[in-house]
Amino acid sequence: MRLLENLDFIIEDINNRSNARLLSSMIENNNISHAYLFSGNDMGSLYSLALKFSASINCLENGCGVCIVCENTLKSIYSNILIVEPEGNFLRKEDITGIQKFMNLSSYAPGKKICIIKEAELMNAQAANRLLKTLEEPPDEESIFILLTEELSLVIPTIVSRCLVFNWNLKFSEDKLGKNNFLNIEKYLDEGLKSIIGSPVGKKEMPLDLSLKLKAILKKMEAGFKTGQEKEIEDIRNSDFDRGDINKFIKALNSKHKRRLNKLGKLGMSKVFDIISAWLEDMLIVKMGVVEKSLNYSQNYFFITKKIDRISIDKIFNIINTIEENRRYLNQSINTELALDNIFLQFQDIG
Ligand SMILES: [Zn+2]
Repeated sequence: MRLLENLDFIIEDINNRSNARLLSSMIENNNISHAYLFSGNDMGSLYSLALKFSASINCLENGCGVCIVCENTLKSIYSNILIVEPEGNFLRKEDITGIQKFMNLSSYAPGKKICIIKEAELMNAQAANRLLKTLEEPPDEESIFILLTEELSLVIPTIVSRCLVFNWNLKFSEDKLGKNNFLNIEKYLDEGLKSIIGSPVGKKEMPLDLSLKLKAILKKMEAGFKTGQEKEIEDIRNSDFDRGDINKFIKALNSKHKRRLNKLGKLGMSKVFDIISAWLEDMLIVKMGVVEKSLNYSQNYFFITKKIDRISIDKIFNIINTIEENRRYLNQSINTELALDNIFLQFQDIG
C-alpha cells in the first residue's frame, strides 16, 4: 500500500478521502504545486501527513514506504527536507532567512527540496513578508513548501492565497500531559466499578462519588494545562517584538490553547468511556462462558465470575447504548459530564 493510501490518523470521511486522492493524483501526474497549506485539528497528525506526502513526492514509486528516500523522509532526516518550527512561540525573520538559504542551494539528494513549516500562524509581520516573497518567486522548480496550521483563520491571508489549501479532519492523539492522568482514571474506575457492583451494602462506593472523583481528575488535567499556557503568554508579553506582533501572537496562542483544552477534555472523557465499555464487554464475555484470556482486563475474571449470575444482559446493553450515545455528543461540543452520573447509577442497578 502506498503511503498516502494509509493515513491512519485521519477520520474516514468524504472530504479527507478526496484530499488524499487529489494529492496522490498530483504526484502520479507529476503536477505538484510549489506551496501547500494543510490545516487541521492536530499538529502531530498534520506533521505525519506532510512527511508522508513529502516521501511520496520524492520516492521513485510514489511513496512505497520502504525505500531509503521514504524511510529517511519519514524519520525527517532526508537531506532534501527542511523542517521549520517556531522557536519558543513564533517564527522569526531569521527562520525564514534559513529557509531561503536552503531553498537556494541545489538539491543535496535526488528529488525536490521540501520545506515543512509547522504552526504557520505563529509568524511575525517581518517573517511573513519574507516568506511571501519566497512563495511568490520560488528559487526554482524543485522547491516545495508545505505549511501546517491548526488555525487557518490566523494565517496571514496573502500567504494563504499563495498556497493550495487542504483542510483535514484528524483524530486526536494523546500527548504527554495526558498519559499519567489517564493511568489515574483507569485506576479509579477499576476500583470504583468493582465497589459499586460488588461490595456488601454499606461499604459500597456511591455512584455519584465516583463520578465526582473522575470529574476532579479531568479538571486537574485542565488546570495543569492552564499553568503552562499562562507561562507561554507571559514569555510573549516580555519579548522584544513590537506591540502589533505581540497582540497577534497572544491571540494565536489563546486560540491554540482553547483548542487543545477542548481536545484534552474530549480525550479524557472518551478514555473514561473506553474503559467502562471494556468492562461491560468483559461481563458479556464471561456471561457467554468464554475463557479468561480473551478479557480486556483478565485480572477481573474471578471478580466478574462471582457476580455474573445476578447481572442482567439487558442492563449491560442499556449501559453500552448510553455510552455510545454520549460518544456521539463528544464531537458536537455537548457537555457529557452528566452522562457519567447516569452511567454509574445504571451500574448500581445492574444486578
Ligand atoms: Zn519509497
